[in-house]
Amino acid sequence: MTHYIEKNINAIKKDIVNHDPSQKVNLIAVSKTKPAEDIKLAIAAGQKEFGENKVQEALEKWPDLKKENPELILHLIGPLQKNKVRKALSLFDVIQTLDRASLAQAIARIAEEEGKKPELYIQVNIGNEPQKAGIAPEALQDFFDYCHHEEKLNIKGLMAIPPQSDDASVYFRALKELQLKLKLPELSMGMSSDYPQAIACGATHIRIGSQIFGTRN
Ligand SMILES: *Cc1c(COP(=O)(O)O)cnc(C)c1O
Repeated sequence: MTHYIEKNINAIKKDIVNHDPSQKVNLIAVSKTKPAEDIKLAIAAGQKEFGENKVQEALEKWPDLKKENPELILHLIGPLQKNKVRKALSLFDVIQTLDRASLAQAIARIAEEEGKKPELYIQVNIGNEPQKAGIAPEALQDFFDYCHHEEKLNIKGLMAIPPQSDDASVYFRALKELQLKLKLPELSMGMSSDYPQAIACGATHIRIGSQIFGTRN
């Protein structure tokens, strides 16, 4: 019998292909709070990219999983403190939450020391919400220039969590425009509740947790 995790992954992949067979949308399975056994079932179902939102939790689950499956790609999708940068760089392939200059400096310095060139996405506060992390859209060009030209960071894309709303498409379209303006290859947007709209608006990565692994406690 097919396990629900495999069924869920296959259903989302079908949604991606049905929308546009030529649009390459990468599915990131968000495994935060879920045990390694669940992650192994997703890997067995062919899942290659995963997301975690806490460095400490990822350090407890992922070193062994990555050793056994070196082809996997792990994304950090939660806030990063400067004192965790070295640990984050040891484990994550992509950091999607670059959201301030002091963090850009810390990543640049430690990546150089460690001989790494991590892929980074700038987190954008697309709804200008005071309680949310991310660079304001108006400040994005300057922040990108700083990261790219001054700190020589490998900025590959943008990531955002839009405000709760009936129609996230407005925000997804605004993000697509920002991505195109900066000529970045990647755009990470869309979660369990709104990924079809994100795909329709040109996401290159969708981040799906509960729709794959079930609800979290
Ligand atoms: C938890 C989380 C997700 C996945 O959320 P679901 O609604 O469970 O799909 C995606 N992105 C970020 C940044 C998250 O923290």
